[in-house]
Amino acid sequence: MTTTARTSPVAQTPPVTQTPIEARNQIVNMVRDFVRREVEPAAAEHDANDTVPYDLIDQMKELGLFGINVPEEYGGMGLDYTTFAMIFEEISKGYMTLTGTLGTHHILTYVLTHYGTPEQRARFLPRLASGQIRGGLALTEPGGGSDVGALQTRAVKDGEEYVVNGSKMFITNAESGDAFCLLARTDPDSSIKHRGLSAFVIEKDGTPGFKVGRHLDKLGYRGLDTCELFFEDYRIPAENLIGGAENVGFGQVMSGLETGRINVGARAVGVAQAALDASMRYVQQRESFGQPIGQHQAIQLKIADMATKIQAARLLVYDAAAKKDSGERIDLESGMAKLFASEMCGEVSMEAMRIHGGYGYTKDFPVERYYRDAPLMIIGEGTNEIMRLVIARQLLRRPEYQL
Ligand SMILES: Cc1cc2nc3c(=O)[nH]c(=O)nc-3n(C[C@H](O)[C@H](O)[C@H](O)COP(=O)(O)OP(=O)(O)OC[C@H]3O[C@@H](n4cnc5c(N)ncnc54)[C@H](O)[C@@H]3O)c2cc1C
Repeated sequence: MTTTARTSPVAQTPPVTQTPIEARNQIVNMVRDFVRREVEPAAAEHDANDTVPYDLIDQMKELGLFGINVPEEYGGMGLDYTTFAMIFEEISKGYMTLTGTLGTHHILTYVLTHYGTPEQRARFLPRLASGQIRGGLALTEPGGGSDVGALQTRAVKDGEEYVVNGSKMFITNAESGDAFCLLARTDPDSSIKHRGLSAFVIEKDGTPGFKVGRHLDKLGYRGLDTCELFFEDYRIPAENLIGGAENVGFGQVMSGLETGRINVGARAVGVAQAALDASMRYVQQRESFGQPIGQHQAIQLKIADMATKIQAARLLVYDAAAKKDSGERIDLESGMAKLFASEMCGEVSMEAMRIHGGYGYTKDFPVERYYRDAPLMIIGEGTNEIMRLVIARQLLRRPEYQL
């Protein structure tokens, strides 16, 4: 394993205890059963009606999935990132939307676990791990998501409180979530833009000045609330400043986004695998020119390419996860995994639709949903244009880097 000189503001995190293989298999099998039994039959209806599947979310709470990586001392399962990736893949095979309830929730738990004060960890992590409160990440603004350093939301210290003004865009779990990791500008004069940002944990506790905007009507990723958030003279106790330190929020959140990119890469693998599985069933049933279409070489070439690309993406995701487990910074690896897996998912879901012919273009088959869900992984957690910039910057900074 290569150690690398760091020039970014992101702090390294301690290694994660590797989850024993038996425990990993047990939890992944449990999630797979849950997905087959409960999620797959319900997915199409929630997608069609854009309704949040609260019953499935409650069952995920029972399974402990809101505390996948939260240390056991705070009531979580304390699992490693490889197991985390496998869980996201399994859920995404059934209904990718459902992972949206867990994705940014786990960025909040990550930031609190690694950067929160002992008091913040004790106050929030047990409730987050059980799902009693659900979390999210409030980073993107209407003015832009890619250029995080340019964000405009201000937090101004006033005695023992901060007063927040501004707005956030595309916030997952905005309506149904309870607590958010908010990134806001505390030092407007910083010559390096991202150094003037601080991370806060905010709760929907009825404090005036925090409003949730309209529920966005999306192409895919349906059945999950994505909304704008508005802050108008919204007061946060100073004790909610994560880690009690101003102007280090950018590094804290970027470190959390590394795990977000593992989760998005794993989602892409899950959706693509579901598209391949559906295609494998279809090519053996559907006949043309007197034989199952799977006997045509042109179709065989497609399924061979699909399966090969899925496995390559899966291994990139597992590689990034294993490096995160060892405590390494993984902006390069998680960027590669997210980039490759999400582009692959776009291609594979399109191929699955083509294999299904006209039927693939209807809502009678799930490949239509996979095709609509795939672009979220290309855009979310940093667009793939930004992923390429992250990867290239790391390669240029660290020419000695050995993958
Ligand atoms: C369904 C959904 C859920 C989301 N959930 C959340 C959430 O929970 N929390 C949250 O904070 N955000 C969330 N996001 C926001 C998401 O992370 C952003 O949409 C994304 O980072 C892109 O930001 P933007 O939409 O403002 O695009 P912009 O930043 O305006 O970019 C527009 C285009 O320009 C390109 N571009 C920008 N800068 C460069 C550059 N330097 N070089 C090359 N190309 C560039 C981009 O790649 C993109 O193609 C969500 C988005 C969606 C769609």
